[in-house]
Amino acid sequence: MQGPLETLEQWDDFVGSRYQEGRDEAQFRDYSTAPPVVREFYRLNHTHQTREFARAKKAEYGALNRSRMGIWEAMEYLNTLVDDSDPDTDLSQIEHNLQTAEAIRADGHPRWMQITGLIHDLGKVLCLYGEPQWAVVGDTFPVGCAWSGKIVFHEFFRENPDSEVPEYQTPHGVYEPNGGLENVDMSWGHDEYLYLATRDYLPEEAQYIIRYHSFYPQHREEAYGHLMNQKDREMFQWVKKFNPYDLYSKGHAKPDAAALRPYYEDLAAEFFPEKIRW
Ligand code: FE
Ligand code: FE
Repeated sequence: MQGPLETLEQWDDFVGSRYQEGRDEAQFRDYSTAPPVVREFYRLNHTHQTREFARAKKAEYGALNRSRMGIWEAMEYLNTLVDDSDPDTDLSQIEHNLQTAEAIRADGHPRWMQITGLIHDLGKVLCLYGEPQWAVVGDTFPVGCAWSGKIVFHEFFRENPDSEVPEYQTPHGVYEPNGGLENVDMSWGHDEYLYLATRDYLPEEAQYIIRYHSFYPQHREEAYGHLMNQKDREMFQWVKKFNPYDLYSKGHAKPDAAALRPYYEDLAAEFFPEKIRW
């Protein structure tokens, strides 16, 4: 896995600590306690996520001609991602996915939301294709328009080549005011990739959760309302509802993957064919 993070969860953990319950505005804008590798991770992300890069990756992976895998098969494949985490205390990728899904299920949410919880991070298989961490995880943001000052480590955008393109440096950039996120290119990562792979099989609410679950600058900071249309605003209620399950379902008891597998294989079969294109 191409660094600098020791584990992909270091990014999740940093986001979780930023939005910890009870932290005030000033505290979650204070990134001075971020581990140096997290800081370096954002520097790389903000430097290299250009509009051209995001569009090229979307075209490349959007062809979905890398492989054919079923949902559980993709979970097991993602689980082969080895990092330096401690197997005794840290959760495997499958366990994080199951924890998110189980927390959603325990609260009585619909089956489409449970399957969304289960699969929402499967796009991280991008790491196994050799993509660097900064092109897989990280808070996502629109490209082709000005970066909101509310994006974490905003100062690192200084080195991004798009900062030299005046057309991209206005609030709306290349987009129409309130023209809808459907027409907006996002920085590339596991959200967009999984959206492309699964959109034909899931209700629209699920597609929004998958596609925008790392879009903290909007679902937490409301920094891009000027690009959104009415439908986006309605659908983002679900993205917001989902976020606590992603961030805070960690730390509960380790789920028993073998015991839960039959339930989730049935659930997956309700929405997906035996194999889908990746
Ligand atoms: Fe994620
Ligand atoms: Fe997640």
